[in-house]
Amino acid sequence: MKKLFFLLVMLTNGMLIYAQSPWEKDFTKPEATEIDEPKPKIVTPGTNGAPPSDAIVLFNGENLDSWIMSKDNSSCRWTLKDGSMTIKSGAGDIQTRQKFGDCQLHLEFKIPVNAKNSANRNNAGNSGVFLQERYEVQIFNSYQNETPLYANGQMGSIYKQVIPMANAASKTGEWNTFDIYYTQPQFRSNGTVEKPAYVTLVHNGVLVLNHFEIQGSIEYIGIPYYKPHGKAAIRLQEHGSEISFRNIWIREL
Ligand code: MG
Repeated sequence: MKKLFFLLVMLTNGMLIYAQSPWEKDFTKPEATEIDEPKPKIVTPGTNGAPPSDAIVLFNGENLDSWIMSKDNSSCRWTLKDGSMTIKSGAGDIQTRQKFGDCQLHLEFKIPVNAKNSANRNNAGNSGVFLQERYEVQIFNSYQNETPLYANGQMGSIYKQVIPMANAASKTGEWNTFDIYYTQPQFRSNGTVEKPAYVTLVHNGVLVLNHFEIQGSIEYIGIPYYKPHGKAAIRLQEHGSEISFRNIWIREL
């Protein structure tokens, strides 16, 4: 009787293990590799660069409410005119009120035609999009510019970390689009990097950065390095040039 009971227990356990095993699936059948859940959420796409239904609109041409001055968190003092937001030279950087982690970010910007006539030609048309307030996707007047910054400082670079795979700059004075796909870094409790940040950049429909591993914060002098941080704002750089922005939206991932 004991033996029979033991045998029964073994058999039941064996069946349980068998039932939980993926190997119970018959991989000669198509349904063995079909997954039903979870269903992806419904997102209604925008048309002609308009935000999709689940996007947070950061600037739609009507007001500067989503932005503050980076230096003192006061109201945004860049210029709002004709549906675009233009850098006010000397005013300083601006950043979103809201903080973000992994995201998809869309923005459009235009470098003025007189940017080349700036006192410092190497600085003409300089701005930038700082992801999480630290990692700069460079904006620069790189259209047929004979005297650009070093290649890892031109438009579409991660400043001083990587040269973009292409120069897809619009003609100076015409609108550019950036579509940025960003994965934030992960840090261990002791502050070391568990996973670095990654960025993909599509500039005017051209892939220029493909899952680039960000080396750390942007350093004008010296080697980049990581310092632990959590969610942080999107910051736009003021570097003396009156660059305009429009149609800025973000999707949290
Ligand atoms: Mg810059």
